[in-house]
Amino acid sequence: MSDIIRRDPRAEWIARNRLHPLHAAMQPAQHSWMGPNGIIRKNPHGIGFIGPNGIKRIDRSGAQQGGATKRTAAVEVQLPLHQVPAPAFYISVVPDMVGGRLSSHDRDLLGLAHQLAGKDGAVLAVVFGEHKENAFATAGVDRLLVLEGEQFSGYAPEQRVQGLRAVDNQFSPRHWLLPDSRTGGGELGRRFAAALGERPATRVWQVKDQECIGRAGAGLQDLARPLARLILAAVECAEPVSETRHEALPVELSTAVVRSLSRIEDLGAVAVDPAAIPMAEAEFIFSGGNGVKDWGLFHRTAEALGATEGASRVAVDDGFMARDRQVGASGTWVTARVYVAVGISGAIQHLQGIGACDKVVAINLDPGCDMIKRADLSVIGESAEILQALIAAVEAYRNDAKRDAA
Ligand SMILES: Cc1cc2nc3c(=O)[nH]c(=O)nc-3n(C[C@H](O)[C@H](O)[C@H](O)COP(=O)(O)OP(=O)(O)OC[C@H]3O[C@@H](n4cnc5c(N)ncnc54)[C@H](O)[C@@H]3O)c2cc1C
Repeated sequence: MSDIIRRDPRAEWIARNRLHPLHAAMQPAQHSWMGPNGIIRKNPHGIGFIGPNGIKRIDRSGAQQGGATKRTAAVEVQLPLHQVPAPAFYISVVPDMVGGRLSSHDRDLLGLAHQLAGKDGAVLAVVFGEHKENAFATAGVDRLLVLEGEQFSGYAPEQRVQGLRAVDNQFSPRHWLLPDSRTGGGELGRRFAAALGERPATRVWQVKDQECIGRAGAGLQDLARPLARLILAAVECAEPVSETRHEALPVELSTAVVRSLSRIEDLGAVAVDPAAIPMAEAEFIFSGGNGVKDWGLFHRTAEALGATEGASRVAVDDGFMARDRQVGASGTWVTARVYVAVGISGAIQHLQGIGACDKVVAINLDPGCDMIKRADLSVIGESAEILQALIAAVEAYRNDAKRDAA
């Protein structure tokens, strides 16, 4: 087994959240402590474990005693199972599945769907084509409908609308929820609304008391309207599901989806220069701070990765990066799917700017710095060594891919 310490941000969040039902399970066992009079107290009941035959066993290796057991990411958390054997109605969610996985926006939507489903309704997720997701159950999916077929692959909003219409005919969901995003949901939701003849509630950030509240007027005003059947929701419209496990039972369409005559021809993705992408729109940002000692190597790594470059304010003030590359409170607020912070300590002004990023990777010498606390994946070490290893890994990966294609 590798010695690398792997962190589980979700387990850490549960350990901090005293109201979470699994909070107690995530605490390190405390078997002895100092009482108020200075005497060490021991809890004899805390030692040992109950064996499969119900008899208490004591592990004399010492691994269990004295609270020496460390809480690790390997702690298996068994969340209570939420079942809906005979759904009274469905709440349908069409996640964007960017990169084949549920994004944090998709998970917020599933949380909102559960608010609307209550105990009797089931949340039905409609996914197009192949995916790589294996956490539908913990994200809150009660029923999973995968619409397969080459007509849905790539940019195919017309065919996808046909697919959603077939789902609508069969399951008659009480509500349809789509992410109001630029990665698919915003356009698909509006097209689907037009096909159904429904007026969608757009840019919704809150649903309560039978009302949807959405942003309007260039994002400066709130528009409240009665709860719509079709809701296009913004990020953070609800808390994602975290306290229950769901069945994610596969369901199928009983009839084939009618193919519409396509007026759109998908000519495929076009390569763009990552440096030309505005920071606020970049999906993959490689950001450097005061811990970057070799800026030539930093630029070469960003190029090898095909990432858009960003920087901390110190890197900008020191003249290593242009002002328009600054990320943070007094720079640009970014929404990347992946944000790599190289030698950035994680000052509050910088963290504010990356609050909406999906996955944060930190490369830093200091394991206690705030960027590492924020990160989903951390690499502790000298930035130059890690960047060189990264370039070598990318080149090896590309060479393998070329060899396989040949
Ligand atoms: C009003 C105001 C607004 C601000 N707005 C912004 C803003 O918009 N954006 C912003 O970024 N900052 C902003 N700041 C500045 C902010 O407070 C921090 O000073 C700044 O973010 C620190 O940048 P840094 O992390 O690159 O540098 P440092 O804080 O110096 O951190 C360097 C990091 O690199 C690591 N390191 C050092 N050497 C190596 C190595 N060889 N390999 C790997 N890691 C290494 C260190 O462990 C450290 O964590 C603002 C400040 C104020 C007062």
